[in-house]
Amino acid sequence: MTLHSSFKEAAQFMTDHHHFLVISHVNPDGDAVSSTCAISYMLQAMNKTYQLVNQDVIPNKLSVIPNADQVKVWNEDFMTLQPFDAVIAVDCADQMRMGSCHEQIIGKLPVLNIDHHPTNDAYGTVNIICPSAASTTEIIYDLMDVISLEWNLPLATCIYIGLLTDTGGFRYANTTAKVMQIASHLISLGIDAHYFAQALLEQMTFSQIQLLKHALTTLTFDDDGSLGWITITKSDLSLVNASFSDSEGLVNLPRNVEGVEVAVLFKQYGDDEIKISLRSNGKADVAEIASYFGGGGHKNAAGATLHTSLEKATLTVLEKCRQVIQK
Ligand code: 5GP
Ligand code: MN
Repeated sequence: MTLHSSFKEAAQFMTDHHHFLVISHVNPDGDAVSSTCAISYMLQAMNKTYQLVNQDVIPNKLSVIPNADQVKVWNEDFMTLQPFDAVIAVDCADQMRMGSCHEQIIGKLPVLNIDHHPTNDAYGTVNIICPSAASTTEIIYDLMDVISLEWNLPLATCIYIGLLTDTGGFRYANTTAKVMQIASHLISLGIDAHYFAQALLEQMTFSQIQLLKHALTTLTFDDDGSLGWITITKSDLSLVNASFSDSEGLVNLPRNVEGVEVAVLFKQYGDDEIKISLRSNGKADVAEIASYFGGGGHKNAAGATLHTSLEKATLTVLEKCRQVIQK
């Protein structure tokens, strides 16, 4: 199956079905919400009905994404009250990434899986998996061409925000010439690029800055400086009245230090539930580390959840990081 034929199949999938459930990954980031909302504008233009859902609440910051207010927190009643005939999953590398709600969705309806994670396991009935795309919205941009729909400003904004957030403001290694060409096209449609950079990348909430102050006190490095990490516990969060979405970007602090190859952020969601965010400076493949712990992601940015204590997770994850750095 070539990438071109999977775009054609995806276009056919959207044409053939009528009532869509659109979903992305738990703890949604900019690309997850933007992709979900971009699909909603495409479905509107195709005269389809849809429900946008996520297992988790959309972080306040992402409310600037057009139609973000339509993304409802998953509830079993969606499946019984609304007769969907298809699912579109975006930015979701595997079924588990949808959250526990995948049990009520997968296997019940045909799924179109649109994603840019190399670790995607092709769980869809139709799959467009394009690891060279900087964001899932970049794939949706290409899909727009295949379906030949008219551009509108909210749809362009969704595509742009996915690119902006997944490239860290057009700075990460996934910032290609194509990304810049797409961004240029979208800005020419009327997007206020400065406004979204300010709202999504520059501005911090008071809780975020308080959490940052605290997180810096936990910053630790290996003696050779190749591995750096930060830890946030449940009680740290309540201390500064923050939520885990306020920790977005903190893993870049150790990552940005000269000499660091791999950076880790440990987040204690529960006594036996530790979420890790991994970042590499280019050489080490952190998707390999994440996959080892049952997660996934990209070479330079990946994550996983470990069901063990914070102490054990810290020891085992740092050990695995050291092995991968030494390869
Ligand atoms: P973050 O550290 O920002 O949560 O995630 C970094 C990258 O890794 C993102 O592309 C995200 O989708 C992916 N990722 C994070 N956690 C997981 C996980 O538990 N499983 C998988 N498959 N991918 C993850
Ligand atoms: Mn993404």
